[in-house]
Amino acid sequence: MSQEKIKFSQASIGKEEEEAVLRVLRSGWLTTGKETFAFEEEFANKIGAKHTLAVNSATSGLMLAYNALGIGTGDKILTTPYTFASTALAARHLGAEIVYADIEKDSYNIDPAAIEKALKEDKNHQIKAIVPVHIAGNVCRMQEINQIAQKYGVKVVEDAAHAFPSKTKDGFAGNLGDIGVFSFYATKTITTAEGGMIATNNPEYAEKMRVNRLHGINRPIWDRYTSDKASWEYDVVDEGYKCNLPDILSAIGREQLKKADLLFEKRKKIVCRFNQAFKEYDFLTLPPDGDGNAWHLYLLRINQSKLNINRNQFGAELQEAGLGISMHFIPHYRFTYFKNRYGLKPEDFANAENQYQATITLPLWPDMNDEQVEHVINAVIQTGKQHYV
Ligand SMILES: *Cc1c(COP(=O)(O)O)cnc(C)c1O
Repeated sequence: MSQEKIKFSQASIGKEEEEAVLRVLRSGWLTTGKETFAFEEEFANKIGAKHTLAVNSATSGLMLAYNALGIGTGDKILTTPYTFASTALAARHLGAEIVYADIEKDSYNIDPAAIEKALKEDKNHQIKAIVPVHIAGNVCRMQEINQIAQKYGVKVVEDAAHAFPSKTKDGFAGNLGDIGVFSFYATKTITTAEGGMIATNNPEYAEKMRVNRLHGINRPIWDRYTSDKASWEYDVVDEGYKCNLPDILSAIGREQLKKADLLFEKRKKIVCRFNQAFKEYDFLTLPPDGDGNAWHLYLLRINQSKLNINRNQFGAELQEAGLGISMHFIPHYRFTYFKNRYGLKPEDFANAENQYQATITLPLWPDMNDEQVEHVINAVIQTGKQHYV
């Protein structure tokens, strides 16, 4: 086996992105302006959303989304422990609390039955929003989730950080609930280094998020410097935040958006090769795959009962073989903050804990070459065979 190290993730950045950044640097306007508006419009057209807002991270986007729904102190959001910390922390920033529902047995996504149970137990109607997370780009059961949300009078905020471009028969993920939030963090399917996009079809939510994205100011700063009206004049109409995306980063995003389908095809090809290679081994379980998976991550599961090593040891051997691996996600109940605040225990989330104990995230990025893909496949199969019982 070759000694080459294979990165866990690498953004696909070319001449187009380099030139776009230079174009903005030389334009005389660096922060949010026409590049960002163009990016928003192009993204809206792509996913068919009425309103889109570029923000400096998905975390900011989630906070603005919760805020637009009026969520604050005394309110709660409902999500799963199997997500990145900021799905929940963005609500904590507003003073809201978190209720956790377990994931499904065979996917990493929120279980509609667990949602309904949590809402039934929520006697004081403190839960204001369900936050499904499309883990790895595999889309949650949105029809069922939307039906439950309607029945209980709560909103749906999709954490679509992994899910661009996840396209289902009902449309793009991130545009299937009340508000959706995408991430353009460096490892995500398309990137602006740091950044995110909010999508909604509700004009009131859009307006509130637009204002609160920039200090609660009722007039865009770029307008202050470009329109005839006195440039110093503006009003602060709400207690807003600072979450806008600068033009330098939006320009990168516009180029990435043009490549999004191509990058997706490349990911999908690699995933097909992984699946093809791994499917015949009973010590491995392939990632869950539903309608319109964006394949942000390849979540391989090992079957403990067939092996004499556990997930951590399996992962360590892959690292020794030169693979940059990761683990998505460490469930919230294993983190000091959430464990202490909510008295969470692994036993309360049997499905999340089982998935956590079995999962290894393999390297997956669009520009992996054939040799690198083969290297990953061989390392996984050799490790499994060596420890097969
Ligand atoms: C990456 C990620 C986020 C946060 O995205 P940022 O753009 O880094 O703020 C939120 N939720 C999930 C599930 C993520 O993976």
